Amino acid sequence: MDGFGIRIEGLRKRYGEGDTAVDALKDVNLTVSPGEVVGLIGPSGSGKSTLLKCLGAVIEPTAGRMTLGDEVIYDNGWKLADLRALRRDRIGFIFQAPHLIPFLDVIDNVALLPMLAGQPNAQARRRALALLEALDVAHRAHARPSQLSGGEQQRVAIARALANQPPVVLADEPTAPLDSERALGVVGILNHMAQQFRTAIVVVTHDEKIIPTFRRRYHIRDGRTDEERGQAHAEPAG
Ligand code: ADP
Repeated sequence: MDGFGIRIEGLRKRYGEGDTAVDALKDVNLTVSPGEVVGLIGPSGSGKSTLLKCLGAVIEPTAGRMTLGDEVIYDNGWKLADLRALRRDRIGFIFQAPHLIPFLDVIDNVALLPMLAGQPNAQARRRALALLEALDVAHRAHARPSQLSGGEQQRVAIARALANQPPVVLADEPTAPLDSERALGVVGILNHMAQQFRTAIVVVTHDEKIIPTFRRRYHIRDGRTDEERGQAHAEPAG
């Protein structure tokens, strides 16, 4: 397999034109290996959301190059015709709030995307259950999201992001509403899942509780990235 899950080179994004143009990303360079979790850290307005949206093919960059696995997906223009399929099959999203569907039970919340992607229902539910087991919430499989604690809901959201076995997961402030212990638990789970499924994971955060746990982190300031290597490594939570 190729050595990179994600590779971003010289990425730029300009919003608008002329006098009112905003250069949100000026020169972003970032790599994430399969099985690796990196932190993306920066103050408000530094370009974090813009970068996640470009990487998630929600908005189009202005210039640069993005590679997923061994496929160049953007090179001064999209290289793929079907961006919806890219978002659905190859990228998992985790948000600050779990955003679970209230009228579906936990297992169907996780199985829904694979079913929509055409997987037979029984197979999608089997895989959903295996993920819930890995995340230690299988005993809640038939509960409604409202019956779960905040930490349990976030674990279900992680299971959902992994349901289509995407090579890439993008997490936007996934620990913001959680206390210290649960926040570190979520990071432990992300590390464990990344290794188990060879997923490349980017965690956007300004959560001081978890920043020291990333072995590699990128700081983004004014649209430019700097890499920093940390000392610590979060062990998977029990
Ligand atoms: P962060 O997520 O780090 O807070 P953003 O990516 O949201 O930063 O924003 C980076 C810069 O781009 C900011 O100056 C912001 O005002 C600007 N920006 C973000 N979205 C838009 C938009 N849709 N139109 C114009 N400017 C935008």
